[in-house]
Amino acid sequence: MDDEALALFTLIARGAEDFKARADRWTDAAVEQALETVKSVTSVTSVGSDVATADFVRTAEALVSPAADAHRATLRALAVQRAAVGPQTVSLYSPLYLSNACTNRCVYCGFRHDNDIARLTLTDAAIEREATMLAKSGVQEVLLLTGEAPAQVGVDYVIRAIEITRSRFRTIGLEVFPMSVSEYARVCQAGASVLTLYQETYDPRVYRQVHQAGRKRNFQHRLSAPHRAVEAGFRSIGIGALLGLGDWRFETLALALHARFLQALAPDLQVSISFPRIRSAEGAVSARRAVDDDALIHMMSALRVLLPGVTLVLSTRETAELRDALSGTLATKLSAGSKTNPGGYSTEATDGRGEQFEVHDHRPASVVAASLVQRGFGVRGYVENMGGTRALGTRLTFVG
Ligand code: SF4
Repeated sequence: MDDEALALFTLIARGAEDFKARADRWTDAAVEQALETVKSVTSVTSVGSDVATADFVRTAEALVSPAADAHRATLRALAVQRAAVGPQTVSLYSPLYLSNACTNRCVYCGFRHDNDIARLTLTDAAIEREATMLAKSGVQEVLLLTGEAPAQVGVDYVIRAIEITRSRFRTIGLEVFPMSVSEYARVCQAGASVLTLYQETYDPRVYRQVHQAGRKRNFQHRLSAPHRAVEAGFRSIGIGALLGLGDWRFETLALALHARFLQALAPDLQVSISFPRIRSAEGAVSARRAVDDDALIHMMSALRVLLPGVTLVLSTRETAELRDALSGTLATKLSAGSKTNPGGYSTEATDGRGEQFEVHDHRPASVVAASLVQRGFGVRGYVENMGGTRALGTRLTFVG
């Protein structure tokens, strides 16, 4: 087994408790040494290409340890410096929920099988309506989402949705159920180019507690899905942990190792890491281990310095204020104008019923784009076509 895979699987096999015992032993001096290591790295794409796996693991562990909390300001400053070397652009995308049918029981999700909500799977005509409405917002990357309900929403359904939407968007992403290599190859061939799949938690013990029924209970099958997608031809992969389930320090290290493992599979692979914090949803449980803003910024800073080439994503789960404060430096991709229920773009606003989670940044894409430009960043994946940004009197710089 390759070093990168071994490092990830060893961390998972030993578990979060073993990690915690080690993390608690890191000292101030060790954290300072780790900061020196990341400072000396010259690669703008990945520390992984400059540092041997064992050193990478040690550095990452030190940077997420409790001892590193006293060095958060330095870590963040380093991350901002690192980001300043890269392109000063932020990408935008919007989710399009195709179905809220689901056979799984994930305790944190409003779409869980045993939750009593109205179920809706969009027809071809409804997908077309949603795509048309969303495209008018100017966002050029759409993320198609489903739950896991093979009878209603199988691979053929996803392919049909790609075929309907692909003429309206420049980039099609998928956040759906895990597939086999041949199934990933089919959706890739149909026009999907970004594959997002969160492990939710890398701690197998917590994973079993929060995934109570359905195919998603299979931890390994989910963990290996991004790998299968790369094998099938995807060159843009998004991973993430749902923050609030497990220990955020353990999840950060696991995300770093997972990203490094994926990067080692294909040198031209673009890896994105998302930081979804659990938000309230009808019938869902709240966070067991809430992650506050300082911890979130700590996570993002550590991953930015460890893996400078990865894209860090913040969704509309976060407030406009926090997204504005972090975008361009720590976050380089944002969702915008999001609706998190099927049919959300083309039907009248509801009282939040039927959403997968509660949205906290309600600004339309035009306002998010204008805010980025006002702060000197270019915007990718957005075309100004609604006039909303002009109304703000801002000269926009769009980067395609
Ligand atoms: S998180 Fe996904 S798989 Fe789990 S219940 Fe929600 S929609 Fe279904």
